[in-house]
Amino acid sequence: MYDLAIDLSSGEGNDNHSVCYNLPMPELPEVETVKRGLEKAIKGKKLADFESDWHKMTNKPAKQYQKILKGKQILDVRRRSKMLIIDLSAGWHILFHLKMTGQLVYRDKKHCLIGGHPIEKSCANLPSKFTHAIFTFSDKSHLYFNDVRKFGWARLYKSEELARVLTKLKLGPEPLAREFTVDYLLKALQRRSRSKIKQVIMNPEIVVGVGNIYSDETLFSAGVRPDRPAGKVKPDEARRIHDSIIRILKAAIKAQGTSFSNYVNSNGEAGAYTKQLKVYQRYGKKCCRCRGTVRKMKIGGRTASFCPKCQH
Ligand SMILES: [Zn+2]
Repeated sequence: MYDLAIDLSSGEGNDNHSVCYNLPMPELPEVETVKRGLEKAIKGKKLADFESDWHKMTNKPAKQYQKILKGKQILDVRRRSKMLIIDLSAGWHILFHLKMTGQLVYRDKKHCLIGGHPIEKSCANLPSKFTHAIFTFSDKSHLYFNDVRKFGWARLYKSEELARVLTKLKLGPEPLAREFTVDYLLKALQRRSRSKIKQVIMNPEIVVGVGNIYSDETLFSAGVRPDRPAGKVKPDEARRIHDSIIRILKAAIKAQGTSFSNYVNSNGEAGAYTKQLKVYQRYGKKCCRCRGTVRKMKIGGRTASFCPKCQH
């Protein structure tokens, strides 16, 4: 029954990579995996109904959602930064953010597709007490929005409103898009020359989708300390940082993608990429490259892990 499902937990605050993901926060690869799964599952379907019991999840009353959504077709599913966009017919769009504990589950007679925070690990008992919005399609399949802390949202916009909302966010380029070049990164580093490099690459106005996990991994791979002032990063180091961001995110998306077809009832285990993490949250442990000790430091309120011997 569960032959089409994904598990997208990602570790934040975990010391041991094999267990215990106490604060999973979906990053770009996880959201991209949800996007790919949903695209396959719902593109072309028609919406028939909507219900919600949590008014902050929506930007209009549920009754209005019902009216607007009824009969609308799913034209496309996209991702922008860590948000999902479902394009509907007649110029409507649903903009989703899963925040810390949001989960999207699609279920039809044959499939159970789970993406986001691992609240519900199967489709068996849906809707559950964590289900706060349900999209029903004309073929009687459902998309459930589950959220423990209820910070996630699904907002409904007309095209021009959506464009305005996205413009306001001042998001930088997607890391896997053509606009994200070494030159672009170098110029951004010069503009923020006194900020620490980790903060600069995590700043969504510079480039989106590089969160705590992937910034640690990127800087380790590039051999650059997370607290280096951005203005002191040399061009060849910037090139290595740029290439690492792209390579690591691509590998993470690929790893998440591999868990797509075989997830059944994981006990909250993160996607396959966590097995490839080299430095994130490994402070106090041996560096896998030089056997020295991985250290940690606070940067902008976040814990950065790095190897003082491998990163300069
Ligand atoms: Zn090392």
